[in-house]
Amino acid sequence: MAATQFEAVDARRCFPCWDEPALKAAFQITLDVPLELTALSNMPILKEKLNGDIKTVYFEESPMMSTYLVAVVVGSFDSVEETTADGIRVRVYCPPGKSDNGKFALHVAVKALELYTRYFSVPYPLPKLDMVAVPEFAGGAMENYGLIIYRENDMLHDELQSTAAKKQRLSEQITVVAMHEVAHQWFGNLVTMEWWTHLWLNEGFATWVSYMATDNLFPEWKVWTQFLQYTASGLHMDSLEKSHPIEVEIIHARAVLEIFDAISYEKGSAVIQMLQSYLGDAIFQKSLSSYMKRYAWKNAKTEDLWSVLTEESGVEVTNLMETWTKQKGYPLISVNLNGHILAFEQSQFLLSGLAGEGLWIVPITLCLGSYERQKKFLLKTRCGEIDISDLFNSPSDCLGLSEENDPEKFKEHFWIKINIYQSGFYRVKYEDKLATQLIKAIESNYVSAPDKFGILDDTHALCQAGKQSLSSLLTLMGVYRKDIDYTVVSNLIEVCYNIVKVYYDAFPDSVDYLRQYFINILRPSAERLGWESVSGEPHLNVLLRGEISMALASFGDEKTHEDAIRRFKSLLMDRNTPLLSADTKRAAYIAVMRKTTVASRNYFESLLSIYREADTVQEKERILRHLAASPDPDIVMEVLNFLASDEVRDQDIIYGFRGISLEGREAAWKWLKDHWDFILNKYGTGLLFTNFLTDIIALFSSNEKADEVEAFFANRTTLAFAMNLKQSIEQVRIKARWVQNIKQEESLPELIKQLAIKG
Ligand SMILES: [Zn+2]
Repeated sequence: MAATQFEAVDARRCFPCWDEPALKAAFQITLDVPLELTALSNMPILKEKLNGDIKTVYFEESPMMSTYLVAVVVGSFDSVEETTADGIRVRVYCPPGKSDNGKFALHVAVKALELYTRYFSVPYPLPKLDMVAVPEFAGGAMENYGLIIYRENDMLHDELQSTAAKKQRLSEQITVVAMHEVAHQWFGNLVTMEWWTHLWLNEGFATWVSYMATDNLFPEWKVWTQFLQYTASGLHMDSLEKSHPIEVEIIHARAVLEIFDAISYEKGSAVIQMLQSYLGDAIFQKSLSSYMKRYAWKNAKTEDLWSVLTEESGVEVTNLMETWTKQKGYPLISVNLNGHILAFEQSQFLLSGLAGEGLWIVPITLCLGSYERQKKFLLKTRCGEIDISDLFNSPSDCLGLSEENDPEKFKEHFWIKINIYQSGFYRVKYEDKLATQLIKAIESNYVSAPDKFGILDDTHALCQAGKQSLSSLLTLMGVYRKDIDYTVVSNLIEVCYNIVKVYYDAFPDSVDYLRQYFINILRPSAERLGWESVSGEPHLNVLLRGEISMALASFGDEKTHEDAIRRFKSLLMDRNTPLLSADTKRAAYIAVMRKTTVASRNYFESLLSIYREADTVQEKERILRHLAASPDPDIVMEVLNFLASDEVRDQDIIYGFRGISLEGREAAWKWLKDHWDFILNKYGTGLLFTNFLTDIIALFSSNEKADEVEAFFANRTTLAFAMNLKQSIEQVRIKARWVQNIKQEESLPELIKQLAIKG
């Protein structure tokens, strides 16, 4: 088969063209293909002519579109199709014999077309939409006009074989990806960015809208809370000195792919979310619709969107938003309460611990003692104050308290949360008194899940930047042990993983106590959820069970390992054993690999057999994600060679990098250096390539290693990955500094030992 991928700048390699997004043209495509194969392009087929074994396929002329959206696919497929209420024909193409696996994506695409047509008040502009899954694809999916191409893992859904519980995670992933790609048919394809500087207009919006649409179709998944994980990775990336503004100057074609990153997608969608919640749903939707109508078939710059929003809302959107899109970074807001006056100070937050120069117009939201008592304002200067006497004196909060009727009790219980529901793209540092009150509010469960998520994420970042001690972060984490919200607990787990990585280098002798403390924190939730899904349980419980069991397996919890291995044995006898679901299988695979060494490799061999036999791409992906988790560097080396072999699709090697054990990191780095030329030859420097750098380099946390990495790349760096490499090295140095800070907390090992023993 053959499939094209022209974004960002590869259409020019296929046909002569002015290959820039602003230079739109109408395309008439003709293909000569073997008779028995299906040929697809952006438009429907106009006619076919047969000529022996070859057929010539003529496609209808396209409307005006950018070159990077032109696409053709030729291959052997089975398909399923439906027609939308507006008469648009939607077809999903799957590998032969697997058309049933395309039904779920088809359902989502039809719903998406109907939903976006309503939301933007602009109909889908082409006569058809095709979606195709292909076996090798560097990215997740590509929104070519009328012909969306997916990696199989992100489109195929083996519904017939799956139990209800197994289906859910996959359904969510497929829905969000399809909603994103279909949204591009408007945001990106109909109205296109003027130049790559405005790439975020495509990606930030498609991302934000995909959550809006998924939430509309499946409200029970609560995807807006999960969106916070997205915001969090944008915040993380943007606290590097080597980050870049959302609107980034692009002067060389080879550097375009580097900005398909957490700034364009995650920060882009997060600042949209911030603006949308500041302006309100109705105005925001109306403005998008006007924008879409005004720029249909044309190109737009970031300021064009701001102008429309300013016109429709009467708010000075341009001034406000340019502080977020034209400069990199974001503010840390420090908050103090003096009497009834809240004082704010903004300074750019950097993980290096230094204060940057930036200044933002920050939509500050806050509540006092209850989500009913809110206030919002724009912080436009470095320092600002607001009088919140009215909140103190309003009749009552959820506790039935106000300062007037019971000042003592009020003083004891009141709390203030800034950045309500984490809708703003900034972090908050509370003075000690406010922080203590907030912890009490979390313990009493007065605080919403998004806010709990945000408080933990901000504290974690402040700790990384050396602005807060690790002991205070560990104490805060203990408060979360009873939490049951999926997004909150998965953030808690993420923080656990990150701390283990640096603590391993700071106090290697007591890292097992730290792991034990984390096991203690997670155990109550694990016991509540068990290993097996319960029919009719909430979607998020299924997801949470998977995350927690994986964390316990990673931290070496003996009980989890015993259970996991027992269940794995049962899987060896019966691939459909009820003892493991799609979600808990991953914990079993981690346990298997944590027990694997060169001397003890039976289960590893069995796992490889499961991989070889697996007939779904998702099962293969699950296994690849954990193969490198062995504590034995020789096994990690063997796994890396396996990942680069013909047994693993080129696109899938990146899954394997994410699971590399700390014990295996030196082996992985050696492997990367030894195979450098091979990697460039086999994988090129496209979208996949970033993962080779970020995932392997990120395992280290010492300045010596950062120097070594810099030296290795001194004469190997090219424009295609220069920025990503610098970001990776900066992250190693940030962690090195964190390790040094932790070492200075001399009482830590004893504290952690106590926490571990306490249970
Ligand atoms: Zn996209």
